[in-house]
Amino acid sequence: MFDENYIPPELRVRSREAMMLYRIYMNRLFSSAGLSDVTIIYGSIGKVGIGKTTLAKYVASMVREGARREGVDVKVAYVNVFSGPSLYSILSVIVRQAGFKIVVKGSPIVDILKAIVDNLYTSNSYLIVILDEFQSMLTSPKMSPEDLYALLRIHEEIPSKDGVSRISYLLVASDVRALSYMREIIPQVESQIGFKLHLPAYKSDELFEILLQRAELGLHPHSWTAEVLQLISDNYGEDKGGDGSARRAILALRMAGELAESIGLDTITLETARKALSEQEASSIPVQEIEALGIHELLILKAVSDSVIEGVDWLTAGELRKRYELLCEAYSIKPRGYTQFYVYVRHLSSMGLLELKPSGRGIRGRTTLIRLSPPIPADRIKEVIERTINIELERGSSNG
Ligand code: ADP
Repeated sequence: MFDENYIPPELRVRSREAMMLYRIYMNRLFSSAGLSDVTIIYGSIGKVGIGKTTLAKYVASMVREGARREGVDVKVAYVNVFSGPSLYSILSVIVRQAGFKIVVKGSPIVDILKAIVDNLYTSNSYLIVILDEFQSMLTSPKMSPEDLYALLRIHEEIPSKDGVSRISYLLVASDVRALSYMREIIPQVESQIGFKLHLPAYKSDELFEILLQRAELGLHPHSWTAEVLQLISDNYGEDKGGDGSARRAILALRMAGELAESIGLDTITLETARKALSEQEASSIPVQEIEALGIHELLILKAVSDSVIEGVDWLTAGELRKRYELLCEAYSIKPRGYTQFYVYVRHLSSMGLLELKPSGRGIRGRTTLIRLSPPIPADRIKEVIERTINIELERGSSNG
């Protein structure tokens, strides 16, 4: 219920937007041309945790369910392209999630695309592909404009046998800059976007609704009060000077619950909620120190915290290096050499953010093992790191 990837059964906030997108999809689905154009959801610059991914996944599953009731099969594939995967790996994920028996390994891209189109035609199904963090695909060195066209203009390149388009792309991008990049790199896709939806950061009353739902779903009935929810929503509401992140508000509520429990309280008091808020601000996450880090250290830290979220604890130095290089690629930043990389890792360890230990003797000899310092919650530090990376890149200090 308090998990990062949890999607509530019903969206109380943004239900209008969800309904509107749902209708657009259903109309297209039952038109003779099928699902063809591209939709994009994007946020405000520098804002994360504002429900972009949630809305996209929610709408896609609503369409899948709505279509199923009408006897139409709609499949959904979700790919987060943040780390800048190749077109090949994106297609592997899509094929797997759509449940197609297509041999991806060793096949030319065009054959895979053709097989997807044919599979949809023969099974008379449709496919919604959500590409999250889409902006990364536009700057990824692994993705040429030709690749982007091959994927996103699949209907033009490989028309279905009956002329019905069965694939629709739902792009989720961080902000409006994705649209200008698209105009530059792939103008023919940009001009095909049927619907552009900008999501602003959440206001306090919206966060209140979101927290209310989480409390109803995930907390004991008498363990919380409206005042506690109000305190947290006012703290993060954009109209009250907060950053408008539902992710941070939900984490604060979870922390307040854990804090109350740890001191033996049955109810989250205002006092505990306040404590959770201030802990989230400062506590185990040295926000100011992180904000002072350079882009390379931020990317290393991001690589480590992402791996914790994926369920990987210790990384070998080589694995970390690889993850760091992928992130560099995603942001079009030249990775630093090995020596400098280790200097950064050691610096982060001396700051108490990373923990290092020798590996013991393994198959490939000795190496250093690295993980995020255990007291630091990965989901909370991720928020700080991503915000700082965005600010840093905006400042144009990425080459520094
Ligand atoms: P973004 O993609 O903009 O970074 P997410 O969609 O990942 O943000 O949302 C962050 C967190 O907030 C998730 O845990 C999500 O479940 C929750 N959330 C966001 N918007 C809503 C909403 N309208 N209703 C319920 N929960 C929401």
